[in-house]
Amino acid sequence: MNKVEHIGIAVKSLDVSIPLFEKLLNCKCYKKEVVQSEQVNTAFFQKGETKIELLESIAVDGVISKYIEKKGEGIHHIAFEVSDIDSEMKRLSNEGFVLLNEKPKPGADNKLVCFLHPKNTNGVLVELCMEVRQ
Ligand code: ZN
Repeated sequence: MNKVEHIGIAVKSLDVSIPLFEKLLNCKCYKKEVVQSEQVNTAFFQKGETKIELLESIAVDGVISKYIEKKGEGIHHIAFEVSDIDSEMKRLSNEGFVLLNEKPKPGADNKLVCFLHPKNTNGVLVELCMEVRQ
């Protein structure tokens, strides 16, 4: 793992939260992107080397809707950048961590991603992400 690539924050409404985070971080949202596979609308901010990813559900029964229902808005996951997602997935699986997807899947912001089950990580949902070269 190289660094914290981004922190994912579950929000009810991007219309409300984008202006809020623009004020908080004093920078503009640089990208909005729908991720159909996760049923989310995302919005990105860049601060130094780290990004903030706001996540808004686009489905009533989507993962972010369910998360907000249970825990309210707030930090949803921490994403670490990896150079080789396949070998990192293998390493973590061998260490006893449970991967939520068997193969890397397309995520927002031109990434391949894999999530680890929070039951093995002190309740923290961890995302591995690797930049896809174009
Ligand atoms: Zn993420």
